Amino acid sequence: MELRWDPILRQWIIVSGKRGERPLLPEGFCPFCPGSEEMPKTDWTVLSLPNRFPALRPDPPPPEVEYDRLYRCRPSKGACEIIIYTPQHNTTLAEMSVEDIKAVIDLWHQRFEELDGRDYVKYVFIFENKGRIIGVTLDHPHGQLYAFPFIPPLIKTELESSKRYWKRTGNCLFCRVITKEKDDGLRVVCENEGFICFLPFFAHWPYGVHIYPKRHVEAITDLTEDERRMFASILKKVLKKFDNLLDMSFPYMMVLHQRPTDGKAYPYYHFHVEFYPPYREKNKIKYFASVETGAGTVTFDYTPEMKAEELRESPES
Ligand SMILES: [Zn+2]
Ligand SMILES: [Zn+2]
Ligand SMILES: [Zn+2]
Repeated sequence: MELRWDPILRQWIIVSGKRGERPLLPEGFCPFCPGSEEMPKTDWTVLSLPNRFPALRPDPPPPEVEYDRLYRCRPSKGACEIIIYTPQHNTTLAEMSVEDIKAVIDLWHQRFEELDGRDYVKYVFIFENKGRIIGVTLDHPHGQLYAFPFIPPLIKTELESSKRYWKRTGNCLFCRVITKEKDDGLRVVCENEGFICFLPFFAHWPYGVHIYPKRHVEAITDLTEDERRMFASILKKVLKKFDNLLDMSFPYMMVLHQRPTDGKAYPYYHFHVEFYPPYREKNKIKYFASVETGAGTVTFDYTPEMKAEELRESPES
């Protein structure tokens, strides 16, 4: 296992030859249910544990492949963790109570804080892949995190744009977007006192909503106890809207975008959550095909205003 540098697109690729050999689990067996090998039987509501087949690890082997100045390589140093949302197998984040969702958020907070303190961790990426269609093989409600030894490219782009805007205007680019979306109102899906959810003017996915704290914070660790509860509450509403929209347990990718953990200051960055749900209508999938994948240009076959309205009207409980 190693990191290989793509000198053309200037990004690291995580290569792990062994991960492809992950064993198939026997039908009906769940490693995340209480009482199985690595899980305590009782006394937990949420849990984080190391991924048994990590792409990044604190003690990686040295790269075995030959490399030089053009074909650069480095060890896969970092961490991969599983975040188990609940001991209950047959539920989803959307079905959990606001208090139980807040327990998940508190664990995200705690993991971010701990990994932020490790010098080799430059970026903590918290996410959830949900649904077979995304490639998830375990139904037990869980998310993951990758602690990267570098700042990933999408975050780099967001940092560059927001830094440039901050230098030019003295304001946060994300705060400006929030105000603009609030004023326009057409793409707002829902909001509460502390958070707002909208499909941005420049949405990439048909139901690709973003959730922002209204207060300018750089990471989940800057939220107060009250704000974490409001975060749980809006998250539940959005997830319920998703499930009610197409009358199914809605698959999605959900990612937390926070400031890097490399010890530098990022006053211009604003914490938020992004969703990338694969459905575009009932029984219709949005593929990121040649134009998206090969040219990096998104095609959006509706308008964000139409899709936001559908979500706004979808029941939130
Ligand atoms: Zn289970
Ligand atoms: Zn801001
Ligand atoms: Zn983002």
